[in-house]
Amino acid sequence: MATEQRDLPNIILCGTPGTGKTTLAEQLADASELEHLCMGTIVKEHHLHFGFDEKWQTYDVDEEKVLDYLEPRLIKGGCIVDWHTCGIFPEELIDLAIVLRTDHSKLWERLEARGYSLHKIQENNEAEIMQVCLEEVRESFDLKMIVELESNSTDDMESNLTRILQWIDAWKEDHVN
Ligand code: ADP
Repeated sequence: MATEQRDLPNIILCGTPGTGKTTLAEQLADASELEHLCMGTIVKEHHLHFGFDEKWQTYDVDEEKVLDYLEPRLIKGGCIVDWHTCGIFPEELIDLAIVLRTDHSKLWERLEARGYSLHKIQENNEAEIMQVCLEEVRESFDLKMIVELESNSTDDMESNLTRILQWIDAWKEDHVN
């Protein structure tokens, strides 16, 4: 699907849980015409999973169902897909892949405040240190489409918002007659 057929771009907002995806995606949706798709919530509400995995305290995602849900929306354009993973998205439907990064001590505090178990905090912190999301994005998309952004402070949040809004405007100028 060519990008020319979309009036608005599709953005993947990726990162370890707690890096600030949902906060930033909500701000972006408020300040632009793009729609926030919070995949964690959508997977639960639309039953796009095989069930809850007690050991990992997470839903066992049915990727086929997720794609069936997302594809028509991505073809239309104007989606901010907020998810910790990105490997299943067709590259031709995505215009920008953002990876949020947070220092591990700050991430630890955020996940603790969220009430995660020690096991889950450790697991996510290790994933952030090992750059699991960044590596997945690099394997899934052209390097030219990828932006890595620090998300340690409210200043970072503000500058990330401004930067992405500018990118959306530039994309629209380039793609819409
Ligand atoms: P995610 O969607 O990646 O799991 P959230 O957006 O839910 O992360 O953010 C987790 C917590 O961190 C929230 O309490 C949020 O207010 C805070 N937070 C998010 N981004 C930042 C940031 N850049 N600086 C400081 N705190 C942040």
